[in-house]
Amino acid sequence: MDNKTSFWQAPGNGKCFDSFLGDNSKMNNRTIGILSYIKEKSITDGYVREDEYKEGIVEYLSSNFNADKNDSLKTHFYKPALFYGFIHRNKNHDLSLSIEGNLFLNYYKKENYKECLKLVINQLDNTTYPNSATGKVQNLKLFPFRILFKLLLENRTIPVKFISENLVHISEYNDIFEYEKNKNISSITSFEVNSTKFQKFNTWVVNSLVDLNILKLSRANLSIRDEMLEHIEVLYSKVNFNDMFFSTTVCEVNNSIAEKRVKRDQTLVHDAKSRDNYSCSINHTHITFISKGINYVEGHHVIPMYQQKNYNFKLDNIDNIVSLCPNCHREIHSADNKMSILNKLYQLNISFMQSNSVGLNDLYKMYQCK
Ligand SMILES: [Zn+2]
Ligand SMILES: [Zn+2]
Repeated sequence: MDNKTSFWQAPGNGKCFDSFLGDNSKMNNRTIGILSYIKEKSITDGYVREDEYKEGIVEYLSSNFNADKNDSLKTHFYKPALFYGFIHRNKNHDLSLSIEGNLFLNYYKKENYKECLKLVINQLDNTTYPNSATGKVQNLKLFPFRILFKLLLENRTIPVKFISENLVHISEYNDIFEYEKNKNISSITSFEVNSTKFQKFNTWVVNSLVDLNILKLSRANLSIRDEMLEHIEVLYSKVNFNDMFFSTTVCEVNNSIAEKRVKRDQTLVHDAKSRDNYSCSINHTHITFISKGINYVEGHHVIPMYQQKNYNFKLDNIDNIVSLCPNCHREIHSADNKMSILNKLYQLNISFMQSNSVGLNDLYKMYQCK
């Protein structure tokens, strides 16, 4: 058995959705039930412990959501929601709902399925390999759904077999390079599908999107549904394949993409730096260097700009911008443990955070603290 893979492994052991949202279908119910359970159980501690989850989930789903009692419920069926970032799992494997998971569940309970679907698409946009739901995939650094949606936008339809023969084998920008020149999907290398493992991304993941009515499947060809086209076009029309692979941190890639999607007001960063007297907000004694006659600092949005889609207040706001020395700025984007620096930033901006109901835990999740 190989413990590492470099194709697009599908999470869990089946589909996340098997019908449009609002339909009382088996897998939709299961997914909604799992989110509801985690929400209920994490009210006191902010999360539900893994053993507590395993103990209670089967009974909960069978009595409240009509699920068959099945041990896969304990270990596998929360994985797709983890993959899409609706669930957050910390280093002890405690589970909680992400910001988006909470929003999704709230909209779902209000039967606002249109907003739910938008959230799903936004979550797909943020989904990466590697991902905690697909532990075997460690070497990839890419955004699978950005690649899929961009290919669908540019080609209108792609054959289903392309998913398992070509798409799931894409591992670096180089694999798309020829295609970028001639826009012919046959220039993306094709692989022999000699194992069902290569088909699961299609049967579980892509088919869930078909059942959700995001994609359309017709005569073995996939396309984006007309109703979804506009929303997806807005996301990808200005984003290149280059932006779908990363070598730095996800946070930085997402911010560079957010920049292409949302225009920022540069004067805010200047104003924030002047407010902070051109010194590092973490510690004003941090030494930098003189540039253009003043102490060099960098502006950083504490709630990352790519989170804008989840909030109704403006993130490009001086109260959300801090000045950081280059070293602290690297730390916030690249450190393995960002908790202590996030604690400080949260305290600095506490009135802005609290008046907008953003908790410290939300901040940890945005920066993918493990
Ligand atoms: Zn930054
Ligand atoms: Zn600093």
